[in-house]
Amino acid sequence: VIELEEAQAFVLAGCAALAPSRTPLAGALGYVLAAPVVAGHDVPPFATSAMDGYALRAADVSSAPARLAVVGSLLAGAAPTVPVGPGQAVRIMTGAPLPDGADAVCMIELTSSDDGGSTVVIAEAVPPGHFVRRAGEDVATGQVVFEAGTELTPAHLGVLATLGTTEVEVFGRPTVGVLSTGDELTDDPGALAPGKIRDANRASLLATLAEDGYPTVDLGIVVDDRAAITAAIAEGAARCDAIVASGGVSVGDVDYVKVVLDDLSAGAMRWMQVAIRPARPLAFGNLAADGTPVFGLPGNPVSALVSYELFVRPGLRQMAGLGQLGRPLVRAVCDEDLTRRPDGKLHLVRVLATVAADGAVHVRPTGAQESHLLHLMALANALALLPDGPGVPAGAPVDVLLLRAGSLTAAPAAVAGPRGRA
Ligand code: AMP
Ligand code: MG
Repeated sequence: VIELEEAQAFVLAGCAALAPSRTPLAGALGYVLAAPVVAGHDVPPFATSAMDGYALRAADVSSAPARLAVVGSLLAGAAPTVPVGPGQAVRIMTGAPLPDGADAVCMIELTSSDDGGSTVVIAEAVPPGHFVRRAGEDVATGQVVFEAGTELTPAHLGVLATLGTTEVEVFGRPTVGVLSTGDELTDDPGALAPGKIRDANRASLLATLAEDGYPTVDLGIVVDDRAAITAAIAEGAARCDAIVASGGVSVGDVDYVKVVLDDLSAGAMRWMQVAIRPARPLAFGNLAADGTPVFGLPGNPVSALVSYELFVRPGLRQMAGLGQLGRPLVRAVCDEDLTRRPDGKLHLVRVLATVAADGAVHVRPTGAQESHLLHLMALANALALLPDGPGVPAGAPVDVLLLRAGSLTAAPAAVAGPRGRA
């Protein structure tokens, strides 16, 4: 049995970043820059007014109120034509270029006009630079705007658009193939034949991958047969950058995924027993033929998703060039005892996390913790990390991995079910 960190390090060593390529800006959301972006021009490109008002010379209004001659008017988008001389002002709208000679803007609310607009009275003195947006104040020519390794968010795309960038150099985003193994599995929505169950893992893993932004390939259900599993992994390697299989990595008579992966990785894969609960077994290795990383997750549906969080997600994020590999880890307060027995393992407890009236994150378990109880995973939005020992009593702090930060402020959903809590 090995520690979580050792297993994670082994996985990450087999998940190299994909080759970069140039991508149109419009499709670049969520991709990671493989090269820095350098600004080709200033933003704003010229000095502009930050207010609707009058462009003037600050020295002219140092002893306000002061009356200035209005010599022109500028809307955003217009090129300035008239300079502002001593004793003069130009009526100006937000975003219009500051005319030559002017060094400040007085907001319209502090001005008045009593002669139809040929002069304006400025009520208060304004310092030089007042309500002027300097050229290059946001981004200066030649500046490294974003470093390599930056994950592109909507605001990044906005900045790049203002710079006239049409393409960016980004790391590839892995396409991931998913297969479920098990003679008992079926997709048939009709009546279940004796001994058969419906496949949960492809649905949950494909959806998790989609939520994380990866293109997916459904490699289907594969029976517990070495040749069939070999063929499915070969198909996956031809079509995908990484493969996620579930089932067949335990110690059962037909647990062939680990055997096949050992073959296909020429013995370089590791079949690990990790000191965590759930999701103890994990097979991981790179195919000898082309290096494709293959994750062999346990078949129990909760284990498969927890294993995804701990191993697959960080591995894929590294392949996509991201630096921050894990989910956000926050300190929360337990609202109920989180009891466990000492067993040398880190326990990952399915919990519902909410932000309570005190402003802190509070958690309570969604119910029993056996790894086949997938509906109790569905009710959770976080995993509480219980270190080895007797557990954490109500009121005590506990570290929590947030799976769905966006659901944190939702009112606590009623947690119910056969073995849940009212
Ligand atoms: P295994 O890891 O193959 O030994 O499977 C462990 C348990 O998980 C068994 O009860 C399987 O029936 C169940 N299981 C495996 N794969 C799936 C799946 N894709 N969907 C639902 N249950 C599964
Ligand atoms: Mg199985």
